[in-house]
Amino acid sequence: MEELYAIIGFLLNGDLACKRDNHERCEPVGKVSSKMSKITCKFGGTSLATVERIKTAAEIIKAKDERRFIVPSAPGKRSDDDKKITDLLYAWHNMAKEGLDPAEPKRIITERFVELEKGLGLSEKIAEKIEAISVEAANHSEPDFMASRGEYLNGQLISEYLGATFVDPVDCIKFNEEGHLDSKSYELLGEALSGPDMYIVPGFYGSMPDGSVKTFSRGGSDVTGSIVARATNSDMYENWTDVSGFRMADPRIVADAKHIEEITYDELRELSYMGASVLHDEAIFPVRAPGIPINIRNTNDPDHGGTLILADRETKLPVCGIAGRSGCSMVSMKKTLMNKERGFGWRVLSVLEEHGVSFEHMPTGIDTLSLIFRDEELQNHGQAIVKGIERTCEPDTISLTSELALIATVGIGMNHHIGVAAHLFKALSDARINIRVIDQGSSEMNIIIGVDEEDLNKAIVAIYEAFVAWE
Ligand code: ASP
Repeated sequence: MEELYAIIGFLLNGDLACKRDNHERCEPVGKVSSKMSKITCKFGGTSLATVERIKTAAEIIKAKDERRFIVPSAPGKRSDDDKKITDLLYAWHNMAKEGLDPAEPKRIITERFVELEKGLGLSEKIAEKIEAISVEAANHSEPDFMASRGEYLNGQLISEYLGATFVDPVDCIKFNEEGHLDSKSYELLGEALSGPDMYIVPGFYGSMPDGSVKTFSRGGSDVTGSIVARATNSDMYENWTDVSGFRMADPRIVADAKHIEEITYDELRELSYMGASVLHDEAIFPVRAPGIPINIRNTNDPDHGGTLILADRETKLPVCGIAGRSGCSMVSMKKTLMNKERGFGWRVLSVLEEHGVSFEHMPTGIDTLSLIFRDEELQNHGQAIVKGIERTCEPDTISLTSELALIATVGIGMNHHIGVAAHLFKALSDARINIRVIDQGSSEMNIIIGVDEEDLNKAIVAIYEAFVAWE
């Protein structure tokens, strides 16, 4: 994850030089300069899980000549109780590392790829390639090499099937010593993809300066797609998956939640950070600077327009989406005249630094300050942090609350619609939900509230209903 934050840092800096709407673009970063419009297509694992689905994806690709830069994931689940190839590859690596025989994951992986190869009518090479990987595996103590082989092998099959040129990201997507994306990747990719061919660039991985394979975090083929779109100066990044884009709320909570046709990069960033999981939450950064739109599309319903992610959009409704996540904790403190005490905030934050913990939000009042953490980040440091703040800051009161859920109500329309906050809080009050904390970032496009975990779903339903019918 850390490496992706660094990518963000790097790409955000790029942003500063490029203020534009989605129709104007930065100069191409790569060397592709053809006038014909270009589309990068990423296909997710479920969209490539069977022979039939790969054939459907191929039909989609062939339906438009502009679809020339194809980024495949590894084959995903064929049904709910199936296994993803990537998970099997991690299992293979872990078993081998523990000194166990990885014969079972190897057998399942081989069978699945052989079935795809046969079904697509390709020459029989895949089993041999898996054997070679099996031998090579012994040279890799980190899981990245094995984990990346699902994308690698699937990319090989699909490029043969489509008659496309295979480009190995090991040669073009480069990380620096710290594991951060190296900006020269755009140039290398642009160069490698500059011909008139159709290209297959497997998702999810690249290489370290010593040439060893490095993967992004899980779901990272979305990030590869975005990098390819930027390197080729594509006019569109189509992200083909198994749903028709985003909905105003998680359909597992609000079954008939309204489909979102258009959403901005910034709105999506807020929603996916908070749990909306259709797209990897860092996939917007490479395309945001040059303003390349992302179109989330459904391989099972290719005529559906999906969701378009843009720099800006028309705003009829103030709110475009609601997302929430449980598993948070909060440290709240009160100290009379806190606002006048120089260095108070700094002392609080140095306690966090001492424990190597970062916080998500820090709502403040005149005499109050709260820190909100993700539990996976806070781990078991909560009480020690409280003690450290007591020692260094001497607050009047301090408490630690766990089992907190956060809900983000997001929309760029908020800043010019009157009464949005009132509407939100009335909906929660009518639903008898106790709000534990409120935070409105300075962006004026997001109001975050904290509620008890048990109220999470009820609160999302209440907020959704309040805003879907906004007049
Ligand atoms: N196959 C990888 C994963 O399962 C990457 C991806 O699908 O985007 O996380």
